[in-house]
Amino acid sequence: MYGAHDVRVETVPDARIVEPTDALVRVTRACICGSDLWPYNSMAPSAAGNRMGHEFIGVVESIGRDVRTVKKGDLVVAPFAWSDGTCEFCQQGLQTSCLHGGWWGGTELDGGQGEAVRVPLADGTLVALPVGPDHALMPSLLTLSDVMGTGHHAALRANVRPGKVAAVVGDGAVGLCGVIAARRLGAEQIIMLGRHADRIALARRFGATDIVSERGDAAIERVRELTGGLGAHSVLECVGHGESMRTAVGITRAGGAVGRVGVPQETTIPNAQPTFYGNITIAGGPAPVRAYMHELMPDVLEGRIEPGLVFDRVTNIDSVPDGYRAMNDREAIKVMIEF
Ligand SMILES: [Zn+2]
Repeated sequence: MYGAHDVRVETVPDARIVEPTDALVRVTRACICGSDLWPYNSMAPSAAGNRMGHEFIGVVESIGRDVRTVKKGDLVVAPFAWSDGTCEFCQQGLQTSCLHGGWWGGTELDGGQGEAVRVPLADGTLVALPVGPDHALMPSLLTLSDVMGTGHHAALRANVRPGKVAAVVGDGAVGLCGVIAARRLGAEQIIMLGRHADRIALARRFGATDIVSERGDAAIERVRELTGGLGAHSVLECVGHGESMRTAVGITRAGGAVGRVGVPQETTIPNAQPTFYGNITIAGGPAPVRAYMHELMPDVLEGRIEPGLVFDRVTNIDSVPDGYRAMNDREAIKVMIEF
């Protein structure tokens, strides 16, 4: 990405092993993320450009001499952040705060939207998949890279509990996966705030019991009507706008929690006083999806959840720029890239 609305497919130097803890992965599936749309709309022009992509599955082509947990030929899924798996934070399951980890792409590292990636700290980062690269569940397994784990994180941080009311702000892929997560954790009423017919249909399929298509104060009022005037126990904020955060805190009942996973686009959190007087918890951040892969994978492999349905368009590497455009124009929910 060279700037706003400027995505190019280019030949770059081949990915290769640099450190003994690296693995070289040939990418077989990747995707475009809703969070890629923030720089797509706002990035200042850059002469160097940024490698893009942080969600991918691929085949291990070679490993450094210190790699133990994956081997050549393994099909692996990568989380959207790489991590050592051993530091204080990794041990507590917060790999996105790894003391030695980092993020894909940029100017130094490979991105997932490319044919091959040098994976640092492969033992802590990669998880081997027990299926072949063309297995029918590939779309759902790919969501473990980010959106399914991120929706799960929002639900956990929002303290979703059996029999309680959850609300999801944002009908993108993460919000839709948040519906799956809320249902999986036992929420009885799941209110989806969204407006697009295709996304609403998918939300209902995933377990949403109520749809609120109003905006702003009208949305807050409608959620309160649906919850006996009290609001939701758990609110999953899956956008990151000031407006969506304002809605999220506005529909949280006293004593409830907001789990935010949308990258904040503003420097402050709205409604300091109402959240204070309501004893509302505001939690969340970048999901440690690496910590959730082993928990969520059996549900995918055994068909209990089907998050791969969020992919409504498949493209090849040459059409990635148009994939960005399609997601940005809300023509597509989420675009998968096949190599
Ligand atoms: Zn770590």
